[in-house]
Amino acid sequence: MSSQSSKQRSGPFVLPGERLGVIEEFIPDAGTYVKDGIIYSRVVGRASLDLLNKRVSVYPLVHGASVPKVGSIVLGQVSHIQAESAGARLFKIDNKALSGVFSGILHISDVQLRYVDSMFDVCKPGDIIRSEVISEKNKVYHLSTKNKDLGVVYAFCSQCGYMLEPKRQTMHCPRCGRIEKRKTALDYGKGIL
Ligand SMILES: [Zn+2]
Repeated sequence: MSSQSSKQRSGPFVLPGERLGVIEEFIPDAGTYVKDGIIYSRVVGRASLDLLNKRVSVYPLVHGASVPKVGSIVLGQVSHIQAESAGARLFKIDNKALSGVFSGILHISDVQLRYVDSMFDVCKPGDIIRSEVISEKNKVYHLSTKNKDLGVVYAFCSQCGYMLEPKRQTMHCPRCGRIEKRKTALDYGKGIL
């Protein structure tokens, strides 16, 4: 644990619905929600006001609350793709709902052991992806899908939105016939979300 994260954890104790600030002052982060421009805590935990980055977040303290750690297997929805990385909003850890909103980044070098030509052949926004947390820095989780069990578990046609089906080395849309590429998990399409 870095000294920064232990300092953040020692912030004031807050309850769900407790006022943390306003959106003019802070960017709401993990463990918070916004109503009418006011930021509130979503969970029981320790508030963290990051004055440098103008972010407010709450670390959950409730027993059993789930926060990703290095080694955690997480499920997320792909939010955006760039040439060398993909972003995901993580919503489940080891099959339990996460206590808050966490974001993860999958870098092209952590997709698989073999060389990956383009991130656009790995996943697309809207896909559900299972990955392992390999590091955490400033509440951004770095993800890997190198294991065969990891990768996209549900993928949707970028033309019509229908769920894609694996066909040989590619993904096939049964509705419009479009062919796309993904890095899929072994149990693609069979898991429970
Ligand atoms: Zn389609």
